[in-house]
Amino acid sequence: MLSMRRGETLLTCMETHSHYQFMPMIETQNPDGAQDVLIDKFGRRVDYIRLSVTDRCDFRCVYCMSENMTFLPRERVLTLEEIHQVARAFVSLGVSKIRLTGGEPLVRKGVMGLIRQLGQLDAELVITTNGSQLPKMANELRDAGVRRLNISLDSLRADRFTQMTRIGKLEQVLRGIDASVAAGFDRIKLNAVVMKGRNDDEVLDLVDYARDRGIDISFIEEMPLGNITEHDRAEAYCSSDEVRSLIEARYPLVRTTEKTAGPSTYFRMSDSDSRIGFISPHSHNFCGECNRVRVTVEGRLLLCLGNEHSVDLKEVMRAHPGDFERLRQTLISSMDLKPERHYFDLDDDEPQVIRFMNMTGG
Ligand code: SAM
Ligand code: SF4
Repeated sequence: MLSMRRGETLLTCMETHSHYQFMPMIETQNPDGAQDVLIDKFGRRVDYIRLSVTDRCDFRCVYCMSENMTFLPRERVLTLEEIHQVARAFVSLGVSKIRLTGGEPLVRKGVMGLIRQLGQLDAELVITTNGSQLPKMANELRDAGVRRLNISLDSLRADRFTQMTRIGKLEQVLRGIDASVAAGFDRIKLNAVVMKGRNDDEVLDLVDYARDRGIDISFIEEMPLGNITEHDRAEAYCSSDEVRSLIEARYPLVRTTEKTAGPSTYFRMSDSDSRIGFISPHSHNFCGECNRVRVTVEGRLLLCLGNEHSVDLKEVMRAHPGDFERLRQTLISSMDLKPERHYFDLDDDEPQVIRFMNMTGG
């Protein structure tokens, strides 16, 4: 029979679902009783984390990965328990929103167990996915406490979709979107990376697709992450302002003050509930309001998407297993490393950041 002592927490070994283990948790109170929060040296409060749960993916999108990727060996990847631990530590420091991403988060074995555990934390749980697993997982995700989904969709043409993702099947993703709409998430948002000569002629079709389903859509400018050779990023660059004027040719847009704790600027159309967002890392730098940090699947806490400043949380957790307070203090002190802003330059021949988006956690 299992018994627990004070200071021990029962954790499920989620990856195998095969046994239970006790992990001693040394939790201390802040001596002055005040809740610790994460504030960087520019006064920005961090209350949003993006956790990458895997670098692997069942697609190979041309702007995100190279065709032949080498993925990380298992021992370099955080276990599901470690990811849960990191999330708990952040929530104890006032983080109120957790986004799971990757790679494709829904292809990691045992991820549903992790999602159920994260759904119990006092934070909004959201997922960014390519949609391929949603036909079978949408209902379960909703039941596990996932409130909102971002689903990537760059094209509505089957041949083009397969070209842009190299291996993805459009029909599977569209079924996933339908299953998610039926499952009743609070909000669903599509994400489309717009590339000149690839899918910029589909902007209005994508807007209509979102309008027909009462869901939101954000258009993203491609970022120079990772060394890709498939296309020239400067040539394919399509600014948010260009995308916006394509849409305004049919639907006048009214800027809203709505915020979703993300970098999108939102607009509304007069005759629809769907919102249209623009994520513009090049043309409209959003660093001044940055409220987020990322944790890579290797446990690197990245303080900025466009810089390499990081802290190795895996090392801290593996050197001091169960020392929750040490993990919290590491997060607090890491805030001093958060840079003021990123600089992306499309004319630079080298990628500004060597890591691919799937390593970063998009
Ligand atoms: N696999 C999931 C997906 O595709 O939604 C989650 C991870 S993916 C890295 C997260 C988001 O990053 C996707 O919407 C994707 O389109 C976007 N993305 C990937 N590489 C990008 C790049 N170089 N520039 C801009 N967005 C990128
Ligand atoms: Fe996979 Fe998402 Fe990257 Fe596409 S954007 S390759 S779906 S991780």
